[in-house]
Parts: sequence; structure tokens; C-alpha cells
Amino acid sequence: MHGKIAGCSFCGSPRIYPKNWVGGFLVTINAERQVYCCRDCDREGILLLFRTEEERVKFAAECAQENPR
Ligand SMILES: [Zn+2]
Repeated sequence: MHGKIAGCSFCGSPRIYPKNWVGGFLVTINAERQVYCCRDCDREGILLLFRTEEERVKFAAECAQENPR
């Protein structure tokens, strides 16, 4: 494991959830191959992991610059 803070691979948002639910339970966050959906940009993709919250915020800021809404 190289990171423990999960974020959207498109916008860096932490508001992501697994696309596939198993038995109504949240699938373990360790399932890195799992497809995730993002509540902020509505796209689905692979989970992106950051080592620190600062890294995630930086990534999110860069994404916001590249794709202003
Ligand atoms: Zn997103």
C-alpha cells in the first residue's frame, strides 16, 4: 500500500463510492481494481490513492485548473 487517502482519479474528490455494492455493504477500500463513481464529476474510474491529504488537495486543485467548470 502506497497510500491511504482515496480520491477520484479525475477531479481528486474524496466523495467517491464503489460502483458495485456487495450485499448492501461497502466493498473494502483495498479493492483497488474496483470501479468507483464520483459524486462530484459523475465519472467512473479507478480509485486514486494519496499518501497525505495535502497531496489529494493539490491534485484536486490542479484538476480544477485544467477542467474549470
Ligand atoms: Zn470526480
